[in-house]
Amino acid sequence: MAGTDHASPAANDPCGAPGHGTPLLRVDEARARILAAVVPVADVESVELHASLGRVLAVAVHSEVDVPAQRSSAMDGYACDARDLPGSGTAALQVVGTSWAGRPYAGEVNRGQCVRIMTGAVLPAATDTVVMQEHVRLEGASVSIEAGHRAGQNVRAVGEDMRRGALAVTAGTVLQPAQLGLLASLGVGRVQVRRRPRVAIFSTGDELRPLGEPLAPGQVYDSNRHALHGALTRLGVEVIDLGNVVDTREDTLRAFEAAAAQADAIVTSGGVSVGDADYVTEILHHRGRVGFWKVAIKPGKPIAFGRFGGAYFFGLPGNPVSALVTFYQLVQPAVRALQGAADTDPPILLRATCESRLRKQPGRLEFQRGILSRLPSGAYRVRSSGHQGAATLLSMSDANCFIILPLEQGDVEPGTEVEVQPFAGLF
Ligand code: AMP
Ligand code: MG
Repeated sequence: MAGTDHASPAANDPCGAPGHGTPLLRVDEARARILAAVVPVADVESVELHASLGRVLAVAVHSEVDVPAQRSSAMDGYACDARDLPGSGTAALQVVGTSWAGRPYAGEVNRGQCVRIMTGAVLPAATDTVVMQEHVRLEGASVSIEAGHRAGQNVRAVGEDMRRGALAVTAGTVLQPAQLGLLASLGVGRVQVRRRPRVAIFSTGDELRPLGEPLAPGQVYDSNRHALHGALTRLGVEVIDLGNVVDTREDTLRAFEAAAAQADAIVTSGGVSVGDADYVTEILHHRGRVGFWKVAIKPGKPIAFGRFGGAYFFGLPGNPVSALVTFYQLVQPAVRALQGAADTDPPILLRATCESRLRKQPGRLEFQRGILSRLPSGAYRVRSSGHQGAATLLSMSDANCFIILPLEQGDVEPGTEVEVQPFAGLF
């Protein structure tokens, strides 16, 4: 992520006060400062494995068993002693029984004999090699095997997949289906996970209306709260929705206090500019602590990070696209850190040929919204998803990636290679 974003020496003010001419903080710097400040929730709880999807593992899990626990067959075929395999020509081996998965063959296997064996079935003690059923010819009660087989083939050794005592899943892993499967394969039915962080959200703005009410002139629906609710829910936190707060100092302060009383973090939108009705940063300056409040990101320059009471505070801009872009680039890594996730990096970047002309002024790292596709050659191409206004949710909704344009970049001509961040994995 940091690769696109080049330092300008003036853009390093640690704790800019509101006002014109405040130097902008670089996005990677802002992210690093947030991550340095956030301490994971300490509480740990034990949950059943099937309820652990998306939770952050608090304590590493080591295997208490060998996987597989016994030597077993990797194929359907015939288990035999490798010394009975022919060096040339063919050999006939007598089939004396069957070893089923979960129902081992209990009898003896002598030289010149073999056992029909299924995938996953235990190898009889006297055998060490499995010949795939496709490679033998069954003739009555015996099979004929040609030369060319390798001693020990198609056998899974004890502990081949995982040894007893080996590290299975590290602390800080966000549990995904593969980990659920792995842990289940080790017989682990409960896991220790971090408590889900509680994140309070509220919107600020006299003009905002809840859904279902008619709009008077100048009013808009409160869309940010719904987008942020979705983004936070997707991350697996407990969302506390405190609604929409009107632009008075008293109401804003009351909302802050209610949020800090119940939540580990507070995410708001609106009111972080320097307009007359922007109380969020003012309250933070007087009653909380502000980390920084202007970042060289577009859309979304005015964003606040700080603390209020015991809660981390993220004040996102009001414009709906700005709110989402700053959420994904700055708040999401912080939520991951708060959850105790070891990996807080934003997801992978790809390079793609840009087919649109993109307007861009140097000075901020820009996250334009694009539609990424893959050519038959395997190369990626991307085009703008439409009008790139900070309030234009349609082009955000139509997009499947961010086109990330470096700080110093100017306009982009069609045919230029650009960096893109697919939404898959981000959203
Ligand atoms: P502000 O950051 O408060 O100056 O708001 C910037 C712009 O975003 C204004 O046009 C607001 O009406 C709009 N806006 C602020 N909050 C929201 C919200 N929750 N939903 C939709 N639009 C919003
Ligand atoms: Mg406002």
